[in-house]
Amino acid sequence: MSRFFSEKYKKLTPYTPGEQPQDMKYIKLNTNESPFPPSKKAIKGAYAEAKRLQLYSDPDCKVLTKKLASLLGVSEREVIFTNGSDDVLNFAVMAFCDEKTGIVFPDITYGFYPVFAKLNNVEYEEIPLEEDFTIDKKKFFNAGKTVFIANPNAPTGIALSLSDIEEIVQNNPDNVVLIDEAYVDFGAGSAVSLIHKYKNLIVTQTFSKSRSMAGARLGFAVASEELIADLNTIKYSTNPYNINRMTMAAGVGVIEDEEYTRKNCKKIEENREYTVDELKKLGFEVLPSKANFVFAKSSAINGKDLYLGLKSRGILVRYFDKPRLSDFVRITIGSRKQMEALIKTLKEMLI
Ligand code: PMP
Repeated sequence: MSRFFSEKYKKLTPYTPGEQPQDMKYIKLNTNESPFPPSKKAIKGAYAEAKRLQLYSDPDCKVLTKKLASLLGVSEREVIFTNGSDDVLNFAVMAFCDEKTGIVFPDITYGFYPVFAKLNNVEYEEIPLEEDFTIDKKKFFNAGKTVFIANPNAPTGIALSLSDIEEIVQNNPDNVVLIDEAYVDFGAGSAVSLIHKYKNLIVTQTFSKSRSMAGARLGFAVASEELIADLNTIKYSTNPYNINRMTMAAGVGVIEDEEYTRKNCKKIEENREYTVDELKKLGFEVLPSKANFVFAKSSAINGKDLYLGLKSRGILVRYFDKPRLSDFVRITIGSRKQMEALIKTLKEMLI
């Protein structure tokens, strides 16, 4: 730390991203990326745009916004695009939390929420998950704070039903409720359709998982015009060009190829089913996942040794050195071939 670092950030512990080895040596099942390449239309769009990189990108993302709004059945003024959904999560903390309005989320959830809270000097409350790692919706009623809920939750993969989500939104009429749907495309119900009914609801999603674009950084929020206008005030006060030209064109291409996305999501759901069955045969406890990952624990080996054992055999999974989580590993669902390799390796290790 330099002696110039601002006092207000001196105690900040940044988010730790999953390992990103660049040598392709591993079967990478640690950061919930898609095993499938981006849509050919996305690649073509990005390539064409590369020739125009001397020009700034469109800060309003007009073409992309029009495409997405029509796909989701919302108006263009109810959408904002950001540099990955992390960007819009931070904007939401900046826009809807302050010294009077804190933020509340489950104690086991996406690790970036407390970091964004601390970055913005906002008080946060963590509500413990139940014994079985589910969220008790009633504990989030009338929270008196901005509510963040990942649905499905991470790293558990467990989803709340859409009616439970609706009740949480309904029971916080004077606060913003943000539903982080980074993993919604793998079997959970999206709350996007509720944004016209509830003016306090924000739904965020990402192109990083189901749309195979993690490296391009594209996320978005859908909400009432008023909430989106507030998020735009933050966007235009930080970095109006937060979506680069190539990413924007790739995003248009992938939306035009929605069938490819749906097909890939279906494959991931099938591979998840295969993986869960095989893990259970090996004596694992696996939480019921609606995401492109599973959270699993073996009675024979602790999470850290499992993670290290798999890593030494060329397979990366995610391990969290935290109370209640350290017996588990989070395994991204990849291609069938990758999952078969994982199961084969686990058999070698455990039998
Ligand atoms: N929300 C959750 C729950 C996540 O796990 C992630 C991925 N790390 C994100 C949001 C952010 O993803 P991205 O910035 O790639 O859109």
